[in-house]
Amino acid sequence: MNRRNWLAQVPALAAATATAARAQKDAAKITIRSMEVFKIHVNARGDWLFVRLSTNEGLTGIGEASHGTAFGNETGNDTITQKYLVQFIEVLKGRSIFDVEWLRSAVAPQTATGGISAACALSALEQCMWDLIGQALNVPVYELFGGALRTSIRNYANINRSTDPRTPAGFAAMAQRAVDAGFDAVKLAPWDDMPKDMSDSAQVEAVTQLGIERANAVRAVLGPNRDLLLDAHSKFDLERGLKLIDRVEHLKLFWLEEVTPVPGLPAIHKAKKMPMAGGEVIYGARGFYPYINAGSVDITMPDVKYCGGMLELKKVGSLADAAGLLVSPHGPASPLGNVAAAHICATMPNFLILEFSYGEVPWRAEVLDPPENVVKGHIQLSAKPGLGVKLNEKTLARYKA
Ligand SMILES: [Mg+2]
Repeated sequence: MNRRNWLAQVPALAAATATAARAQKDAAKITIRSMEVFKIHVNARGDWLFVRLSTNEGLTGIGEASHGTAFGNETGNDTITQKYLVQFIEVLKGRSIFDVEWLRSAVAPQTATGGISAACALSALEQCMWDLIGQALNVPVYELFGGALRTSIRNYANINRSTDPRTPAGFAAMAQRAVDAGFDAVKLAPWDDMPKDMSDSAQVEAVTQLGIERANAVRAVLGPNRDLLLDAHSKFDLERGLKLIDRVEHLKLFWLEEVTPVPGLPAIHKAKKMPMAGGEVIYGARGFYPYINAGSVDITMPDVKYCGGMLELKKVGSLADAAGLLVSPHGPASPLGNVAAAHICATMPNFLILEFSYGEVPWRAEVLDPPENVVKGHIQLSAKPGLGVKLNEKTLARYKA
């Protein structure tokens, strides 16, 4: 371009710069106005709870708050999470869409005592805010977190919430469905029927052995070249947990997750014969710091809903990276939580794999508009502004809880 041509461009460039500056200034004036909550029925293990925030400028942002009180084997009940949502939106009304750290501080007393229900409520609102910020600035959310190292995010199929009957053959059949759908990594929690009272050794042994047979059946479906992940859901005491490691060594696991309650994990990790993963219910980078320092795991599993949101997920990932650990976000919930987590996974240098709750309902993908886009077990992030998806109101109405 010669000087004359370049000069001819100057007014257009100046106009574009002015427009961008005006847009930024306007974005700073966008404030939160109201909240809608949508609950849809999934199955006996829990519902999906969605939040949508509206602003003074007519933008809407979405987030997921599911499974606040539906942890482990408990049946879902999102009532407490909904109470926190109602409390928190009163705090947030009138604030800028950029006030993410402010919101986290403002509700700190509740998140300190409210467990994962309070965390889910905060996180859902926080996801909405990032969706709004991205739309206001016309960029996908991953651009706000350092830019994408990848936009195709590898997932493993968690078949634990969908398998019925829970026989070795039942798990094998669901694993086969996941493989047929394109997943090359499958997780199950094969010891969920372990009794809380472990005084009956014969019963404990029978459940332990049945779990190993379930895992054997899934490994047979996967063959040697796909990945098998086992979650023990903290069902073992330290002594039995150490023995379990030897008993599953032949399965060549991608990882073994949460064998014992947290205090026992460093000893389990030290004795390991396979990678160890965990940390799904821990809140905040501050919560992860002692867990990582104690040498509990190789792979940290912050959940975007339980850890405090997308920014906190990024912080936990950085903390893990500093300790030389990998990150595999937990999140066996809806496509919306997965998209929120995937935007952060896109930006993390130490990202390993993301959780995908496979086979719960045939209409899973239709919760979002456009529908959830998974190719060969990889979530595909779009370049659209914000999270890049909206809630599909027809699906929400049809399956309203
Ligand atoms: Mg788990």
